[in-house]
Amino acid sequence: MKPGFAWRLIEWQGKHGRRDLPWQNTGSAYKTWLSEVMLQQTQVATVLGYFQRFTERFPTVEDLAVAESEEVMQLWQGLGYYSRARNLHACAKQVVARFNGEFPSTVPELESLPGIGRSTAGAIVSLGHGLRAPILDGNVKRVFCRHQAIFGYPEQSAVKKKLWQLAEDLLPDERAGQYNQALMDLGATVCTSRNPNCGACPVSKDCLAFKQGATGLLPTPKPRKERVQWFFIALLVEDSHGRQWMALQPDSGLWRGLWMPPILQLPSDSLNAETLREWLDQLGLDAEGLDELALQPWLVHDLTHRQMHFKCLRLKADSAHGLFESHAPGQKPEPRVFQKLRDHVSQLMLR
Ligand code: SF4
Repeated sequence: MKPGFAWRLIEWQGKHGRRDLPWQNTGSAYKTWLSEVMLQQTQVATVLGYFQRFTERFPTVEDLAVAESEEVMQLWQGLGYYSRARNLHACAKQVVARFNGEFPSTVPELESLPGIGRSTAGAIVSLGHGLRAPILDGNVKRVFCRHQAIFGYPEQSAVKKKLWQLAEDLLPDERAGQYNQALMDLGATVCTSRNPNCGACPVSKDCLAFKQGATGLLPTPKPRKERVQWFFIALLVEDSHGRQWMALQPDSGLWRGLWMPPILQLPSDSLNAETLREWLDQLGLDAEGLDELALQPWLVHDLTHRQMHFKCLRLKADSAHGLFESHAPGQKPEPRVFQKLRDHVSQLMLR
């Protein structure tokens, strides 16, 4: 390989790259895929424990394919972005049904599976199968945008197209897996979002952002857009054994496949006592504590595209309403916001 961008990165990776992550150098397309899906929008430190638990419980893609979806969601609980878990399970089933339990080794075949985009496919091909394919995850986009001084939000289609072309053009004929690993490692440890350590970077001598003093400006941030605001009343209804009313969320919507307490979405942040009374009435619950809701602060839960606001009513009831089941906290897969609601209510009670 001629000395150049790829060569310098591969050399650097051999000396300074990450080598001890449990999904590295396994030669397993299954483990590469699992780690890639978990690492989308999530830090390595958070993923480590989840990866270990998943691979212990599901050592092969067949084990994952035959698991109950509730168990998969339970193991995923806390990682967030739950559509990833649903796609993960659906993908495992298809790998078994369509590809005899072997992850395919071409990008188009991999992209035909649920939850696998072009970059994840490239990672599976290069890191899991040792073949040649480019990747373009968040770390790599950041390195390319800076190194080539590419301005414009990287998710805009014209910019993305340019970045993919660059990823193709720079990909070496040999050692594509180690090169891709080097790009990811450089983005994660040296060319970091804030304060890149250009002094330790193997490609600084031809990095345009470094030369132009523009590292702080690249990649171009996402254009600001107002987030959607949602308002909810949540009921934390407990029976005499400390179990809570929960319902499995329907197959569509944000929390599908997870368990949530009764919640009512409001059209705005104003509380209509009559609507709330009717709702409680339908559930066979007394409207106790309703007056205090007006004084209760909103609990804010931030998501990428929306901001959710909750007020909670804590009530006692002997048996669950027909729509709900009673379960001990933590027994069912539930979104992180549910735990936040419980903590919120406990804190309010301490005041
Ligand atoms: Fe990133 Fe700095 Fe390296 Fe350029 S020189 S690729 S900005 S770490």
